[in-house]
Amino acid sequence: MIRKPIVYRAHMEVTDEALMALHALFGRPFEKALELLEASCVTYLRATGGRYVVQVTGSSGIPYTLFPGVNYCPCPAYRYQVIGTQMFLTCKHVLAARLAEITQKGRDLPVTMEDLTRVLCAAANLDRNGVNCDPKPADLI
Ligand SMILES: [Zn+2]
Repeated sequence: MIRKPIVYRAHMEVTDEALMALHALFGRPFEKALELLEASCVTYLRATGGRYVVQVTGSSGIPYTLFPGVNYCPCPAYRYQVIGTQMFLTCKHVLAARLAEITQKGRDLPVTMEDLTRVLCAAANLDRNGVNCDPKPADLI
């Protein structure tokens, strides 16, 4: 008999079996992601029309802007431990964003499309004319 895995409980919590499997796969970044999730460090910047990005504020206090469902983060850990040494599959910010989406524990922050554009430009360190500007993704929070 094949046992169908139960990943979520009734209240959108991840089961212990799923937690252990995810820890085996992602390692230390997964532990840190759970800490970020419990500390309510995940915010969804939602513009009208359904467009949104995710900001995860790490232990340094720096908010990292992420695209939903995309395994990329501009943090140093991603650069060195994911891209560089390939020690981990992803960083704690990407995992926290994904876990928040699955468990619905992220905080929603409604923004205008202009605000969302400003956040994305700041995250890319570019303004609308392609000129460098200071990144200020936390201005809306
Ligand atoms: Zn990261």
